[in-house]
Amino acid sequence: MSTPAAPDWFDSTWRLRALRRCARLPGTKTAIGLCARSSPRWRAVAEDIARWDALRERSSRGEWRRLTSYSYVALVYHRFAGELKPGQERIDIAPRRFARQLRALRLAGFRPLAGVEVVAFHAGEGGELPHRSVAITVDDGIADCVEPLRRHARWQPQLFVPTQELGRSAHWIDGEPVASWEEIAELDRAGVAIGSHTRHHRRLTTLDGEERVGEISGSLADLRERLPAPLEVLAYPNGDHDSVVCREAREAGYATAFTTEKGRNGIATDPHRLRRVSVHAQDGALAVLWKASTGEGLPAWWLRLRGPLGHAP
Ligand SMILES: [Zn+2]
Repeated sequence: MSTPAAPDWFDSTWRLRALRRCARLPGTKTAIGLCARSSPRWRAVAEDIARWDALRERSSRGEWRRLTSYSYVALVYHRFAGELKPGQERIDIAPRRFARQLRALRLAGFRPLAGVEVVAFHAGEGGELPHRSVAITVDDGIADCVEPLRRHARWQPQLFVPTQELGRSAHWIDGEPVASWEEIAELDRAGVAIGSHTRHHRRLTTLDGEERVGEISGSLADLRERLPAPLEVLAYPNGDHDSVVCREAREAGYATAFTTEKGRNGIATDPHRLRRVSVHAQDGALAVLWKASTGEGLPAWWLRLRGPLGHAP
């Protein structure tokens, strides 16, 4: 079994992964088989379990463990003001709430996964990831992220900045002030890994080829010019990507790239389509622990209980 051709165990919900594992318990497969007779949904589950069983038979114990156990969740944040301006209710976390979320993660045994560790993991150099590894990522470089990230630099956050919007107003988010290069360089010295969010925060799939390459390659060149050792990782603006964008990110020299599709990332996950789950302003300690554990948004019943601001995760 070679890793590039291996299917991605984590391209699935936590429920389906739990079913795959439970299926080895006596009687479970029989029960699923009975459900599959009358339900197309259960038929698909049964087929999925059969595929993974076959792969398990062909794999060594080490390969199987590497494919199905080594994984991590990346959380994504945007603003840290707590102003809850209309339209920003979901992405603007109060700094004190952010501190409480990190404290909850620490108390629950999560450890930060640094940007270089993410890169090494997907290059096959990282070995086994400690259980409960979580990458803290922040997009946009809005000025209000500077102080919280400096304060929590021991969490080894990864900050993705649109390199030619620094020091300006964010056209994509209500004209909020964007951090300056000086502030970004200071964060870099404080231990925050600085990666790319393109040059101008434009939706990459809407651009023509030349513009796209300028945004993708140009921002990496900007980072290399301004910082001694930037994180050669891209976060697609608005998570917007397609196969062409992913290929161009790889060809431009990015080791990995983040989308905003939810889920965990494993060794067989496409390194230029890494998943992240967004943390929202209303997320308390339990919600963040849920997201850091599953890589998924909150279940509908949880959002209903939480109230009117708890829109879709
Ligand atoms: Zn963004």
